[in-house]
Amino acid sequence: MSRLRAAKGMNDILPEEVGRWHRLEATYRETMRRYGIREIRTPYVEPTSLFVRTIGEATDVVEKEMYSFTHHSEPLTLRPEATAGAARAYVEHQVHAKEPISKWWYLGPMFRAERTQRGRYRQFYQAGVEIYGDPGPGSDAELIDLLVTFFHALGIRDLDVLVNSIGGPETRVAYKAALVAHLEPRKAELSADSQRRLETNPLRILDSKDPRDQEAVASAPALGDFLTDADREHFASLQRYLTALGTPFRIEPRLVRGLDYYTRTLFEIQGAKEKLGAGSTLVGGGRYDGMIAELGGPSVPAVGFAAGVERLLIATEAAEDAPAVDVYVAPLGAAAIEQALVLGRDLRSAGIAVEVDARGGSLKSQLRRADALRCAIALVLGDAEIAAGVVQAKALAEHAQENVQRTDVVAWIRARVPDRSAGR
Ligand code: AMP
Repeated sequence: MSRLRAAKGMNDILPEEVGRWHRLEATYRETMRRYGIREIRTPYVEPTSLFVRTIGEATDVVEKEMYSFTHHSEPLTLRPEATAGAARAYVEHQVHAKEPISKWWYLGPMFRAERTQRGRYRQFYQAGVEIYGDPGPGSDAELIDLLVTFFHALGIRDLDVLVNSIGGPETRVAYKAALVAHLEPRKAELSADSQRRLETNPLRILDSKDPRDQEAVASAPALGDFLTDADREHFASLQRYLTALGTPFRIEPRLVRGLDYYTRTLFEIQGAKEKLGAGSTLVGGGRYDGMIAELGGPSVPAVGFAAGVERLLIATEAAEDAPAVDVYVAPLGAAAIEQALVLGRDLRSAGIAVEVDARGGSLKSQLRRADALRCAIALVLGDAEIAAGVVQAKALAEHAQENVQRTDVVAWIRARVPDRSAGR
């Protein structure tokens, strides 16, 4: 008898791995709580037509990747993503009549019959958010900032945030025509896939990885030149808000993304290529202002993202082993010990993990212990510091130190170590 194996691209998550999933999920839930986003759970199976209408007929997902079947003559599909199902639920339950803005999150399995490789599976998990009812770029900026905060809380530091605007439906129609006019005479030079896309979904040619397509596209008209004034203003405000939030980003004019339903804002966050290889996109998202109306609902704008959980877990592999504490408090002399205990308690109540060395000892021996615990920061308290109401704050990796007012210590630490209060 042949050995039974899981279906290709479908993975078991064994008990010894589940702890990492729990930590990620707990961090995600805590992030959602802080932003006032509530959970929605939709079915894993939806009518096939839902995905054809929202994702778009001429997309890879709908053309070749859906697990579809007919049950008692009802065409059904295992959900390849959750945005369509959430939008369906929003319309079906007339949520717009109950509240002007709705913010929903989900975390669960998705199914796509893809070619499998590291970071690309046929059953995979996505953590996502949908915000309905806000047309402005403030929600877009907040979602991107939320993601960066969430990734930092997981210990993922090496991030590349890409943003683009593809404008509204009119922009898209005008640009598609210009792109086709540019590519039509070069059709023979395109890859076979892109020759086909020229008829079905020409925008997708822009993000093709094939060098032949990239060459043909290099001289194509720029999508940015086709944006309306309102599109431009929306995109400019998004950039202003991100700058105000201190979120580094890069404008990527070729970012168009696979699914058909996007309008205006698009974004992607990529992790370190060395770790993730071809699957370095941790999260993709954007605005889909037309989707709710497309499903027969009112004209309600929407913006959201979906992050790949397995890829986040790969990206956190090295970061997984976070130090147990971030800050080491080193008192010098017996009189400093009580001050060190108070300082440690105050920092902990601000959510920071702290080791207080109540044994004291020489500065050298205490700093050696701080190193062994892999603390990023040591706070030294001696008689001079206590008299001046300061601590001597050392950023250990940078070999930098300065005297910081006791009242400013929390902010000083926050600027240097990730906030891990949502999960370690
Ligand atoms: P998408 O829904 O295609 O925009 O993908 C959003 C994110 O989900 C991607 O950036 C990946 O992190 C993740 N993802 C998409 N497809 C897969 C897959 N087949 N396996 C694992 N992760 C995936």
